[in-house]
Amino acid sequence: MPEIQQPQPADTATPPPFRIDAKLHQILYKDTSKPTTIDSDRPLESLPVPVYPQHPDPKEMTKSEYQKLNAIRTWKTWGAPYFKSRWHSDELRPLIPYLFTEWKCNLDCHYCWSYNNKVKGMTEDVARRSIDWLHSIGSRVIALMGGEPLLRPDFIHKIVNYSAKNDIFVYLPTNGRLMKPEVIDKLGDAGLATVNLAVDSVNERKALPKALKPIRPYFDYLVKRQRYYGYTVMFNINITRINMDDVKELTEIAHDAGIATDYHINETPMMEQTHFKHLDENSTYLTPDDWSKVDDLLDYLNDKRSQGYKMANPKQHMEDMKTLMRGEVPAWDCRAGQNSLIIRTDGTLAPCFPMYSATHDWGTIGNHKFDVGQLTEMKKDCSKHCLSTCNYILGYCYDTRRVLTWAAKQAMHGFKGATGSF
Ligand code: SF4
Ligand code: SF4
Repeated sequence: MPEIQQPQPADTATPPPFRIDAKLHQILYKDTSKPTTIDSDRPLESLPVPVYPQHPDPKEMTKSEYQKLNAIRTWKTWGAPYFKSRWHSDELRPLIPYLFTEWKCNLDCHYCWSYNNKVKGMTEDVARRSIDWLHSIGSRVIALMGGEPLLRPDFIHKIVNYSAKNDIFVYLPTNGRLMKPEVIDKLGDAGLATVNLAVDSVNERKALPKALKPIRPYFDYLVKRQRYYGYTVMFNINITRINMDDVKELTEIAHDAGIATDYHINETPMMEQTHFKHLDENSTYLTPDDWSKVDDLLDYLNDKRSQGYKMANPKQHMEDMKTLMRGEVPAWDCRAGQNSLIIRTDGTLAPCFPMYSATHDWGTIGNHKFDVGQLTEMKKDCSKHCLSTCNYILGYCYDTRRVLTWAAKQAMHGFKGATGSF
């Protein structure tokens, strides 16, 4: 494969430290409001130590066995909870809760404010109580989050094992640097459902270290073992100023490996992130000079979708990225704080990942304080500056007619895997 010539970073102006309305920012950032700890009167809980291997010498599944396993798992962990959430629409029912087990990372992607190596990781007690609480309110999915979750692979092994035994779909995002074959085997054996492998470049570079080349042997092993354990794999790619050719190349690599892709548009911080080091002169930020190039890239990707490439983002999401990079998107139906939430490393809650640093008090595990009035008022502004992929997809799919149409389409194809996105 020829070496890709990357554009040289140009001078970029320093963006504002946050993008939401200043008044809203002040409301969400009051020093005193956030709870600092969860109740500590109870005895500490722990997670069971997994038996390994549970399935010695696993056999490779046929394609149809693999598809059947995933169709059943999808129904049990996404389909049934979705319909129950529609039935109990006045209750907090997170279809996608995020568990931030870590806020530390082993890399330093220059656009990323989502890590701070001074923050202590989640304890086993908080993890166990989070999983039990989420299960009790009808969640059957746990999306692990960081930082880099695999900084503590044994801890993640325990979480995957405990969750899978409770019929929970576990989603693992990772930069792949620590995803060694023995880690893949342990997590696969424990019942991991999907791996979201975050890569922005083919070859590593300083501003975008999440690259495929340094982890290629791990990636190949991960793909190869899918049908032994039943998990799925996808690439998660952030479109920045300096990786547009890589985005195309990674899309082809994913297609050749038979896995899906998921795209994001690079954004400056929505809320103030005092620990973030790269706000100034950041070579990854998109400038007005890049907009037409990104438009072309998004059109190119949408064409690939119509050629049968598997993509997680709905087509409309890719169209809305064009308006987001120009400063504002039309308000959309965000379900954060109602059908999704985040649990920070210390067990406190927030509606979504962009609000990780907010000090507003949304409660703690087992004692949430989400208020639909407050969320609705807040989203009138923040949804104009945000296209949070998972929340967007959730909002887009939170439409029974769309879900039934999609399910009918899958049924016509005999549930032989995802045939097209929503
Ligand atoms: S690997 Fe992920 S968490 Fe770590 S710096 Fe990069 S984007 Fe942030
Ligand atoms: S639109 Fe939703 S996901 Fe985005 S910042 Fe607002 S509450 Fe969070």
